[in-house]
Amino acid sequence: MATRALPLLWTVAIISSACGGSTQEDTTTDRVDSVLTEDVIRTADPYARGYTDGDFPRIKELATGVYSYEQLRSAGEERFATVSMFVVTNEGVLVADGQGSVEETQRMIDRIADITDQPITHVVICSDHGDHTAGNSAFPADAEFLAHPTSSATLEASANAPNRDVNAPPIVLPSQIIDEREVLELGGRTIEILFLGRAHTGGDLVVHLPEEKILFMSEAYLNRVFPAMRSAYPSEWVEMIERAQAMDIDTYVPGHGFVDSSAVLEEELDTYRRAVIRVIELATQQYEEGYGLEDAQIQANFGDLESWSLFTSQAPRAIEQVYAELDGTLPGESR
Ligand SMILES: [Zn+2]
Repeated sequence: MATRALPLLWTVAIISSACGGSTQEDTTTDRVDSVLTEDVIRTADPYARGYTDGDFPRIKELATGVYSYEQLRSAGEERFATVSMFVVTNEGVLVADGQGSVEETQRMIDRIADITDQPITHVVICSDHGDHTAGNSAFPADAEFLAHPTSSATLEASANAPNRDVNAPPIVLPSQIIDEREVLELGGRTIEILFLGRAHTGGDLVVHLPEEKILFMSEAYLNRVFPAMRSAYPSEWVEMIERAQAMDIDTYVPGHGFVDSSAVLEEELDTYRRAVIRVIELATQQYEEGYGLEDAQIQANFGDLESWSLFTSQAPRAIEQVYAELDGTLPGESR
């Protein structure tokens, strides 16, 4: 379904490798791409890949009983995938991250029911943001909802917000809090839930399947989506990704963008890490040169990152967040 655009990509790949990308260090500062090992188009834009809306939701079996679930959502004029993961065992199903509305989460639940009769018993809130939690009331009320204390506090604050829409679906609060690490043995399968450090939300959890060597990273890994930093800890995010990269993992699953082959996902995780570093370095340079925030936002040139999904909406916010980190005004900072 994505074949039409491929020859062009091959041409680009051949040209870039003919330019010596594989033999000498890339000295330009406006590119984060490394040498690309596969001919899949590196983008989160479904239409650039030749997909149609009818290709989604898309379910991929990553290992026996382990599935990724990609559904498209809109942000302004752009569409991109929101990714959940679910693990089927003979003692219930664990879901990592819901979708962004009751309707979309119910759609995922229905698709899970096509695959297994097992009930959903665990929901891991890896990202507390609405596009991964707003549909959580569709899950069985007796399921265990697991979250980091920071995400728990965030969800509680939203549930109690005075300006909350009375018609909004209920916010499901976590039933179990995970500070650092929890190991579940479910139907003979080992599922580890980890906090690897503050990244996209501050309460970022990952789901690790040590035997299958799969790591669901949720929004700590945005595959070709511009670093979204409105509640992020920019420098700590880089360290968190590096901790994930140091683990023995075959398949890193992102929270947005496409679930590509394991090899591509591993490459793109590093591309993403370098994108976060680029954002931090560029904003830091502007800060040190004395640019006010607004001028920095206007002047910033992110090079090839400007073609990534959500660049227009996320780049100014990312600069603001790096400025906040440099000022020591991020939430939870003691400075
Ligand atoms: Zn988010």
